[in-house]
Formats: sequence, structure tokens, C-alpha cells
Amino acid sequence: METPKSHFIKTIIDEDLASGKVSKVLTRFPPEPNGFLHIGHAKSICLNFGLAEEYGERVSAHCNLRFDDTNPEKEDADYVASIKEDIRWLGFEWSGKERYASDYFEQLFDYAVDLIKNDRAYVCSLTAEQSREYRGTLTEPGRNSPYRERSVGENLELFTRMRAGEFAEGEHVLRAKIDMASPNINMRDPIIYRIRYAHHHQTGDAWCIYPMYDFTHCLSDAIEGVTHSLCTLEFEDHRPLYDWFVEQVETPARPRQYEFARLNLNFTVTSKRKLKRLVDEKLVDGWDDPRMPTLAAMRRRGYTPESIRRFCDAVGIARANSTVDVGMLEYEIRDDLDKHAPRAMCVINPVKLVLSNYPEGQQETLSLANHPKDETLGRRDVPFTRELYIDRADYAEQAPPKWKRLAPDAAVRLRGAYVIRFERAVYDAHGELAELHCSCDMDTLGKNPEGYKAKGVIHWVSAQHSNPAEVRLYDRLFTAENPEGDSDKDYTDWINPDSLNVREQARAESSLRTASAEQRFQFEREGYFCVDRYDSTPEKLVFNRVVSLRDSWSQGKK
Ligand code: ATP
Ligand code: MG
Repeated sequence: METPKSHFIKTIIDEDLASGKVSKVLTRFPPEPNGFLHIGHAKSICLNFGLAEEYGERVSAHCNLRFDDTNPEKEDADYVASIKEDIRWLGFEWSGKERYASDYFEQLFDYAVDLIKNDRAYVCSLTAEQSREYRGTLTEPGRNSPYRERSVGENLELFTRMRAGEFAEGEHVLRAKIDMASPNINMRDPIIYRIRYAHHHQTGDAWCIYPMYDFTHCLSDAIEGVTHSLCTLEFEDHRPLYDWFVEQVETPARPRQYEFARLNLNFTVTSKRKLKRLVDEKLVDGWDDPRMPTLAAMRRRGYTPESIRRFCDAVGIARANSTVDVGMLEYEIRDDLDKHAPRAMCVINPVKLVLSNYPEGQQETLSLANHPKDETLGRRDVPFTRELYIDRADYAEQAPPKWKRLAPDAAVRLRGAYVIRFERAVYDAHGELAELHCSCDMDTLGKNPEGYKAKGVIHWVSAQHSNPAEVRLYDRLFTAENPEGDSDKDYTDWINPDSLNVREQARAESSLRTASAEQRFQFEREGYFCVDRYDSTPEKLVFNRVVSLRDSWSQGKK
């Protein structure tokens, strides 16, 4: 294990432990269950759970999973399930049972009543439009609501009746009484409760008023005894409000918020709202379409949890926003699979190859190493026969300069087998290449004949023994580096039309027949592939391309 990197949040925690400000560390990961987790969330997960693991070696340290579920209309129990699965897949476990902000609705209601009693909150009956007018702008202060001076008694009565369902949505809200002239708009008497006649995935129909995020989040942290509440930089302006609520209310603990830079990746969109639109408009095939930047999609595509954790570690934790090259993520998965994925052969665009001098009916079993460097990955048996498949792209009638594959007058080695020499190509009625005939140098198995070396090596499978396979060639979902950056365009305009190419006629070597769901391989000369966890069957294997062997984007090929 490498030593995890240091960063400013660890410095803060170290100081807090040294000064005795805290004696334990409690972090939390607080997703709203309104979509699947994406690669940006992985950064927050690795940070929060990672800190608990690391400090757990010295002090009591834990990380809670808490669903911040204050918007019932947008949330769903299916999202809760997917979030839990993704966190566990990444290799983390939360402390105790998962929690919900909605577990605290009763307590939060009591806190709101306390605020009213202390003249720190009031029921406001401005319409939404009027509220906007009263709020002011970034350059102008807001104005006090005409309802701001309602008496404590009247506020208590109205708030109780709001809860009892006596009013329509939008008729009243509960607002914190802070400062309408504050330069920070978040402090201009923010709403803390609104009326919503919505069914909630956890609390059902028990409530018709729901607390706002800013009120709920900090007080839920306080209820749980979170010591370090870590969030992304866009919440920096909300911190004064976070502190205000925690100070105004008698809470069991005093959490503090610290902000770090969110993860932005080029060629990628990381906003649940925008990802949801891709799903809703069927621009992708669901949240776990392997082209999506969600963790469920990356898992399905074949990313390993280790590669994602290593990526997050490499990105590090800083306070300055920046955009990370998606090539860095691809580097991590390539590096991981290069070391650990067994090799295999799969012909993606097959054409039949007949070895004219190889006896009909003869079959040899070749024993090939599963990994060029790691012997612990063992060997496998690969049948060799007179009729094989090779990839169409490995034959050229007119070979370009430096061509190292098959061509008229050329010889190549079949990986792990014999050298073959071109004899003739057979075309069908449409002029399409139908078959290649070659001779086989029978004395070249595992050795080169005297004074002769085949220029290239190509992969192959036995026609008779290989397995039908569907290969899904995935590429980046967006062609623009910053799909959200052009104000004249919608991010969906940048969807890469070549982000998915399906090859249904591929042939996989027979050993792959027993490959299990989610197993990953390097297909020789093609890239890294993963058995699709939903669609693959032994009769029709389905492989997803995780990543190509080399980064073709940074070489300017696209
Ligand atoms: P989105 O903008 O995609 O809707 P969100 O911030 O609204 O994301 P939450 O469910 O509220 O999503 O996020 C849970 C946690 O993950 C929060 O603490 C949030 O700060 C963090 N998080 C979300 N996106 C990123 C990101 N791109 N990089 C780092 N952390 C993130
Ligand atoms: Mg959010």
C-alpha cells in the first residue's frame, strides 16, 4: 500500500486532534437520492471514507452514510439502493446503518419551533414572485417582508397549522430571521420549511411540510456528531448559514464545514441533473449505460474499484477548482488491467482463414501464457485447426508502407502458433473478401526458421472451437473537451455519434466460454474488455470495451 497523500483537510484534523478540539473523527457522505452516483461523488466518497479508515488507526474514526432526502418529488428508493451498492463496490462500508435526514424530521421540526420561540424564524406569506422582488440582488440589499414582525404566538400557530395540512402549497413558508441587507444572499431570511403535498420514499405521507437543504444538512450533521463536514466549494457561501443554524439551536454537537474543489473532468458531464436528462431523453441506455460517468456504468464497462480509488488519490484534495484530464482516469484503468488482466484472443471483425497444407480434421492444443510477465496467472489451452478466423483489418490487398500484417506475398506469425504465408484471397459476388488461403510453415511452431523472421504477429481463433461473441466498442460520450462550455450549444449537441459501435459477429477463443460476469481481459492487440454483467451468456458472450490499449485521443488521432 502506498502512503495516502497529505492535504489541507488532514492538516486541519491533525491540528484539531492535537489541540483537543476534537477527540474523535466523524465524517459523512451525504448524497441526495435523486440520481446515480458519478465519478465526482467518488472523490467525495474516497475522501470521507478514506479519512475514517486512515484516522481509525489512531483514534475513534467513522464515516456515516446519510441520505439528504429533503426533496421527495425528485427522490426515489431505487436511487438509495444504487448509491449503497456503488459505495460498497468501491470498497467502503459506512458506520452502522445508513441514515436519512428524514429520520430527523421530528427533531428538525422541534428545532424550527425553537427558532420561532426565540424570534429567529417567522411564517412568511409572500408569493414566490413577491419573495423574489423582496430578496434584492447581488448589488442591492433586500427588503424586509411585511410578515417579518408577526408575533411569536401567531408564528407558532401558523407553523403548526402548516404541518397539519391546513394550507395550500406556496401559501406560507417558514423563514429564518437573519438579515435582509446581508451582502450574502444566503443570509437574507432563507426559507427553512415549505409546504409540499408529496409522498416521501422514507416517511410516506407523514409530512406535508419539508425542511430545506441548508437547514437540514447542518443540523443533521450536528445530531450525528459529525466533526468535519466536508463539501464542495460551491457551499462556501452557505457556510455562514450553516454556522448560524448550529449556533441558534441547542444541538448535541458543533460540527464545522470545510470546502474542497469538486472534481471536473474534461470530455465529461458530472451533474446528476444533466445525466438524468440523458437518461430521460433516451440519449443513453439508462443510468448504467457504460458510456455514462456514473459509478454503476463504469463498473459495468469494466473499471475496477482500485483504478477509481487510485485516480481519486492521484487527483488529490485541494481548494482550487480545476479540470482533470479524463486521460488520467483512463491511464489508471489501463495500468491496473495491464498488470492484472489475463490475455485472450478475440477476433472482432472475422474473416475465415484456411491453411491449405494443414491436415483436415487435425487439431493441436497450444498452451499459451495468460500474462507475459505474471506467471501466477497461469496458462490456458487454445485449440489450433485448419480453419481459423483472423481480423479483416489484418489483411490488406494493397499493403501500405511498413505494413506488418498479412498481404499478398507476405508472411506473418499467428500469435503463439505458426508462421503463415499468403496464397490467395477469395471474394464473394459483391466483391467482399470472403476467405483467405495461406500455407502454414509447419516447422515454425514456437521458433523462427533459420535466417527468417516473420515481420508481424496477428491474433486468431479456431473457426470450429471459437465462441460467437458480441463486442461493444465504447468510446468517450462527448467529443468536446468542455461540453458545457459553449453558450450557443447544448451539452447534448456534443454527443459522440461513435461512442458505441456494436460488433455482433465477433469470435472469442474457446477458453472465454466459461468467463464469468464482470471478468476482465486484455484481448491481444485490441484493448481491455469486460464480460457484460447483464447481457452475456455462454452461448452469446457480450464484452464491453473498457479502454483501448493506447490513448488515441491525446495523439490527436480523433
Ligand atoms: P450534482 O451536482 O451532480 O447533482 P450534488 O452535489 O448535488 O451533485 P449530492 O448528492 O448532493 O450531489 O452530493 C453528495 C456529496 O458528493 C456532496 O458532499 C457533494 O459535495 C459531493 N460531490 C458531488 N459532486 C462532486 C464532484 N464533482 N466532486 C467532488 N465531490 C462531489
Ligand atoms: Mg446537492
